[in-house]
Amino acid sequence: MVTIRVIVTGAAGRMGREMTRGLLQAEDIAVVGAVDRQQAGADIGTLNGLPPAGVTITTDLAEVIAATRPQVMVDFTVAAAALANARIAVERGVSPVIGTTGISLDQLDELHQLCEDRQVGAVVAPNFSLGAVLMMHFAGEAARYFPRAEIIEMHHDQKIDAPSGTALKTAELMAARIKETPKLLPVEEKVAGARGATYQGLAVHSVRLPGAVAHQEVIFGGQGQLLTIRHDTTSREAFLPGLLLAMRKVNQCRGVVYGLENLLEL
Ligand code: NAP
Repeated sequence: MVTIRVIVTGAAGRMGREMTRGLLQAEDIAVVGAVDRQQAGADIGTLNGLPPAGVTITTDLAEVIAATRPQVMVDFTVAAAALANARIAVERGVSPVIGTTGISLDQLDELHQLCEDRQVGAVVAPNFSLGAVLMMHFAGEAARYFPRAEIIEMHHDQKIDAPSGTALKTAELMAARIKETPKLLPVEEKVAGARGATYQGLAVHSVRLPGAVAHQEVIFGGQGQLLTIRHDTTSREAFLPGLLLAMRKVNQCRGVVYGLENLLEL
């Protein structure tokens, strides 16, 4: 079995910890380095309730890459840091697999160009949950027949970006399939923002509440009917199979592959 050498950036964060915990238990993965601004010096095994892994969290990505020679960098930080990290990785021949959300399409283009120049594959996936990817796929299909729709996404109250990367991606997929955008009647908002944000011509509503993990529903309206497509992530473990899939396929990618669905045969 071929072992993939991987480093995790954002390893002390909520996602970084949960994914590191899963990666440490995957047979074909060797976690050789971990980077974060928090928990410097902590062992990534003990930090995650596992036996010591012999890998500690450090703060300098370039140094970790030079010392550990990874093939893949998994990133769960914040958008600005993820882009800076990806540049450092790609320039050193390391493939980024980025789960961090909030990266703009322009920034993705820039990263794609750098990856092409350096002949390094990358995956950027705002959602690694297979169920969520299927939800987006089905929403895209339904948009061909129901051009009127709104997206409601709900996350825990520690999430700092809104709308979620998944909601934006869903709107992009749907907008690409809506043949003719219907004319909407103007609505007088008695309270600013009452109709949500508009992205790609679709209303997007963001809910942030303690107790939530990651949830989204897309409601389609047609004559005399409503169709709701909904996905609920009840635990962060949901993201591990998709992350592993991306890590195992990233070396076959050319440039940036944006969205887990592009690694599946849908
Ligand atoms: P979090 O708990 O805040 O963790 C982020 C970690 O990254 C923090 O420890 C943070 O340190 C650290 N960090 C920030 N900038 C850094 C830098 N320049 N170098 C090294 N470490 C840095 O956030 P989270 O809930 O894990 O979410 C992380 C990202 O994953 C978010 O963008 C979220 O939307 C995304 N996400 C993606 C998926 C998916 O399936 N793709 C699923 C869930 C979440 P500080 O506290 O010092 O800033």
